[in-house]
Amino acid sequence: CIPKKCKYHNRQDVDPKLNPHTTRQIAPRPKVCSSILDAIGNTPMVRLNKIPKSVGLDCEILVKCEFLNPGGSLKDRIGLRMIEDAEHDGRLKPGSVIIEPTSGNTGIGLGMVAGVKGYRMIAVMPEKNSDEKVYTMRAEGVELVRTPTIASYESPESAYRVAYKLADIVPNSVVLDQYRSASNALAHYDGTAEEILDACDDKLDMLVISTGTGGTLTGLERKIKERCPDCKIVAIDPVGSRVAPDDMFVKGSSQIEGIGKDFYPTVADRELVDKWYKATDKGSLNMARRLIKDEGIMSGGSSGCVLYYAIKAAKDYGLKEGDRVVCVFADSIRNYMTKFLSDDWMNDFKYMEDTLDESKQWWYG
Ligand code: PMP
Repeated sequence: CIPKKCKYHNRQDVDPKLNPHTTRQIAPRPKVCSSILDAIGNTPMVRLNKIPKSVGLDCEILVKCEFLNPGGSLKDRIGLRMIEDAEHDGRLKPGSVIIEPTSGNTGIGLGMVAGVKGYRMIAVMPEKNSDEKVYTMRAEGVELVRTPTIASYESPESAYRVAYKLADIVPNSVVLDQYRSASNALAHYDGTAEEILDACDDKLDMLVISTGTGGTLTGLERKIKERCPDCKIVAIDPVGSRVAPDDMFVKGSSQIEGIGKDFYPTVADRELVDKWYKATDKGSLNMARRLIKDEGIMSGGSSGCVLYYAIKAAKDYGLKEGDRVVCVFADSIRNYMTKFLSDDWMNDFKYMEDTLDESKQWWYG
């Protein structure tokens, strides 16, 4: 239901029932927002200065600061879009209960929108994900069910299966299902991608994204390949995950939250990806710490991961002065204060690197 090249986009003459672009596009932010929901999207694009130079890159690296969304991540966009699309097509009505499997950010984004609009919400989240996400969701009034991290997708104990099991017993409940929902990708196709292209005046040589559901990837790659067909799409999937093609599978596990899945989510379109990287934790999390120190960018572990592999990709593709890379930074340090922000946590996992010692050139991995 998400067309490859969207023939419905910006068409007023198409039956609204056939047009997936059902809800408002991101409008410029009003001077006074009528609720916090008007503050979703329109995130800043910021140039990196010290880090690219320090690794010998002459190309420009820009960061789409999705962590500056009001709920702290790019999932605010899909929270709003999935709820408004479901209201539009009648799946959600006053009194409905939203149930969602999540690694946390979608739960927080949906919880924020559900709170403002008055829906009850239940999030189902694996134990791996941080207490900071739990506290945020609880404060939003979201009811939380935790599932074992080791439960595989097929297991009846997985977050995904538990969410659907709950939906069978909770009256008036709906699983919006970010792993299958066209609204997930469309939030990025209609919103994030337009903002990136606008900020770059349609001049973009490489886009680097980390993948969980793959919704960001699908929405961005499709719009950007329409408008900048030569732009390289680089996607990142951690070890142990099945989002990247099977022939790249590497056994292992990752402490980077929000990315990677032990199944292939149908919302993820791999067709337009030019290059995949399999991510490991150490370089990614040290890069996230370095972003705070050198660039003042308070983003989460998956953002460090995106930059770490963006540097590798820029070198692999031989990008030069005048070329432009855009990295999508999904969430903020708020989710990880007791995790990679903590020296003790980093030491427990033997991840700590002396990022002040330039001679180690640790970022090359
Ligand atoms: N980074 C973080 C921190 C996330 O929470 C997510 C979403 N789970 C992603 C990256 C990947 O986004 P998507 O689900 O659109 O692939």
